[in-house]
Amino acid sequence: MSPHTRRTSALVATLALCLAGGIVAAPAVADPRAEDKTATATGRGGAVSTVDPEASAAAIEVLRKGGNAADAAVAAAATLGVTEPYSAGVGGGGYLVYYDAASGEVGTIDGRETAPAEMPHNAFIDPDTGQPYRFTPELVTSGVSVGVPGTPATWERALERWGTLSLGEALRPAIKVATRGFVVDETFRQQTLDNKVRFEAFTSTSDLFLPGGDAPEVGTVFRNHDLAATYRLLARRGTEAFYSGALAEDIAAAVQAPPISDDTALPVPVGHLTTDDLAAYRALDQAPTRVEYRGLDVYGMAPSSSGGTTVGEALNILGTVDLSEMSTPDALHHYLEASALAFADRGAYVGDPAFVDVPTAALTDPAFGAERACEIDPLHAAAKPVPAGDVLSYDGVCPADAAGQADETDTENISTTNLTVADKWGNVAEYTLTIEQTGGSGITVPGRGFLLNNELTDFSTVYNASDPNRIEPGKRPRSSMSPTIVLKDGDPFLALGSPGGSTIITTVLQTIVNRVDLGMTLPEAIAAPRASQRNTAAVTAEPDFIAAHGEELRPYGHSLTPSGDAFTSAAEIGAATAIEFGPGGVLTAAAEPARRGGGSAMVVKPSR
Ligand code: GLU
Repeated sequence: MSPHTRRTSALVATLALCLAGGIVAAPAVADPRAEDKTATATGRGGAVSTVDPEASAAAIEVLRKGGNAADAAVAAAATLGVTEPYSAGVGGGGYLVYYDAASGEVGTIDGRETAPAEMPHNAFIDPDTGQPYRFTPELVTSGVSVGVPGTPATWERALERWGTLSLGEALRPAIKVATRGFVVDETFRQQTLDNKVRFEAFTSTSDLFLPGGDAPEVGTVFRNHDLAATYRLLARRGTEAFYSGALAEDIAAAVQAPPISDDTALPVPVGHLTTDDLAAYRALDQAPTRVEYRGLDVYGMAPSSSGGTTVGEALNILGTVDLSEMSTPDALHHYLEASALAFADRGAYVGDPAFVDVPTAALTDPAFGAERACEIDPLHAAAKPVPAGDVLSYDGVCPADAAGQADETDTENISTTNLTVADKWGNVAEYTLTIEQTGGSGITVPGRGFLLNNELTDFSTVYNASDPNRIEPGKRPRSSMSPTIVLKDGDPFLALGSPGGSTIITTVLQTIVNRVDLGMTLPEAIAAPRASQRNTAAVTAEPDFIAAHGEELRPYGHSLTPSGDAFTSAAEIGAATAIEFGPGGVLTAAAEPARRGGGSAMVVKPSR
């Protein structure tokens, strides 16, 4: 039985118990979608990997009907807006990297949220006290952190540039899922519970996501008729109906005067977003970043994301040594140190290029990487934070001059979702999208079925005029999203990406190193335990990584601290999706076997 058929049968069984409207009780099951989840699928004719079987099935349906990777990516993303509403949706933003087989070119779309035109430099200072808002709860659950959403514009632009379907056609599978509902699994319920206090703060959000005052039970069917109506509106009238008119007015009102519950104790600062900001929004075509690594061409997302430059710089640093010849601890030591150095430069130099002169060429220059590699002591971890390098004067020869300031702060969170799609023509879409925090700002636009992002928390929260990521009106906050496409001799070899805030960068980097240097298959490279060195004193690592490598990394001076944060119960880093392109057109779609409850890989024609 194909993964697609298994998904359908499980859904049909549960939906048979469904009455009209709302949440409907179904037999208790530990994870009702478990049997629909396949972490690895191999075959031909197109492939997809997402965190969710409904989204993967939407992409496969589009591919089977003759749509291409761009069409299927939009269909899957829109479906994730239904089934993963706390990670992504039309209230957020993201970045899409696309390999166009006809031209052989990689292009990208920057669909990042932007700061409102009226957002002042001191937006994160409480006007009542003159003191900075706390990150939690004030900034996280607020209107002040809501940026102008870029996701609808990204979908429209992707279809216009590369797709064959209209937006309405691409939204069809998602409208179906929103209307007939999906089966609540443990991950969805737990994410709702993790956000319960924030969701209770808004009448619109508790009405939608806390029906009867509680998180939906595992095994019940969750339907979102408001979101289906929003998608239908976009299907009929295009994104103009999002960026202007009644929906735009509802979005601006929800930010400026959030529908706050009478009995919440949360402070909820209001925001600055207006209908003019929505009308002015554009998704941007950007040139990708490119670095060469072990003879492969690695394409990533240019600023306003720091993904492409930081993954690229770390690969350039690692390209100066042969990891495959090293012992595992030596290779991991180099991975961690290269990552710290690249993060130092990310902090010093990367922001929105419309506002800041970002040295993208230097950061991805192999000579700069070679000079940064001089800082790695093969036997000892450097004291962190390490200072940034000198992007104005470098020659790739040791010793290097340190120029920048060391910066250890990192306030990003760990939500988001990622998807990878390939079609039978060889086109590839790698797309990371988010509403930032799991649950975004917590504010659902009343009657519209979607949460607004809190992406502006990705700005540095303390204003400093020399910081490339300082708040400025109309600016895009620096992202870490790292959708990545790797070509070998001009043809796709690997496409991958992950959620996870700033750990996205290290997850993508570590997965590439695992696959290319450390002899792992793609599924092994994704399953392997992760560690993330973001230029901080301690390395954040999954418990399994600490168990496997903690002892052997101690002699170098690495101190490992377990991952996990105050907002979620999971101690996981990332939730990657990827596709590998093998000889003879064989595709290996790979998703997480365990993280976030396991992802869903599917192919159009499975290998026997
Ligand atoms: N806001 C993050 C970024 O753009 C993504 C959110 C997350 O993955 O938690 O890098």
